[in-house]
Amino acid sequence: MPRWWPALVSVLVVAACSTADPVPTTTTTTSTSAVPPSPSTMPSTMPPRLPAATTTGDVRALVSETGVVVPVYGGGPGAWFVGTPCGARTRLRTGTPMYGATVLLDPGHGGDEEGAIGANGLTEKDLNLRVARLAAAALEAQGATVVLTRTGDYRVTLEARVALAQRLRPPVMVSVHHNGGHDRRSDKPGTETYYQYASPASKRLAGLLYEELLGVFAAHDGVDWHANIDAGAKYRRNVRGGDYYGILRDAGGVTAVLSEALFLSSSPSEAALLARPDVQAAEASAITRAVRRFMLGREPGSGYVTPIPRLAPAGPGGGAAGCRDPALER
Ligand SMILES: [Zn+2]
Repeated sequence: MPRWWPALVSVLVVAACSTADPVPTTTTTTSTSAVPPSPSTMPSTMPPRLPAATTTGDVRALVSETGVVVPVYGGGPGAWFVGTPCGARTRLRTGTPMYGATVLLDPGHGGDEEGAIGANGLTEKDLNLRVARLAAAALEAQGATVVLTRTGDYRVTLEARVALAQRLRPPVMVSVHHNGGHDRRSDKPGTETYYQYASPASKRLAGLLYEELLGVFAAHDGVDWHANIDAGAKYRRNVRGGDYYGILRDAGGVTAVLSEALFLSSSPSEAALLARPDVQAAEASAITRAVRRFMLGREPGSGYVTPIPRLAPAGPGGGAAGCRDPALER
């Protein structure tokens, strides 16, 4: 949730922490290095593995020697031409090439853009990264090649996040956020997942993710839930009719969703829940299951709602002003 929040509270315009949030960040990735078991050693009950990205062809991104993932625009070993998390262009001598990704995870905020902050001091930027890292590990264990738009505590502009999506062209992108600002108290989790308005695939992924996240959180009793009136799997459009959230709008044809799992800054009770490592792991598992079901199955998802129009312009955040790039080389 952005700094402009207080000004909007009375208008009920709450947007998630987000908006601006969906700022792209860079991160690291790991690719699957495990050798698939031979058929003779593979249990018959083993679930299908997720596809790995190609390991040949054009180099789309680079994991810098400091672990930052950056889009590659040209050059080659010894002189890569890359974009930086702040959206600048530079040359790198070193880095691990990435030729694609199965799943791009986008931990919102970072650096001096902290996002929502819980009463317990838990910052959204840290929580988003923890959950994304856990989901990345689980997805990689199942065969996927996962890239994070942000791998540490630094800013990443919306443009830089989107650039990674456009270069890597993953089949799935999930932007991980936690909400602030709410309409009312609720008798159930106020989980929200946003999809790209014109994309049936994005809508299905959002419905699957909503199901999985709601199932995880609703299992907890005694939580003081907060919600928007139109909680659920939904879209949000801007005044021009396009997707409100830049990360969804500008993802360049990549199927993307934005997750606002719970209300971190609205509810001390939800913040306490989100600070628990077991709950963070469960949220990551929910993301993992949703991605699996999206890629390997055909279920339609659920929780779809017709959103209340919320047309307030996006707040600050996600831009390059004042952005300081992390070290990319040692
Ligand atoms: Zn956020």
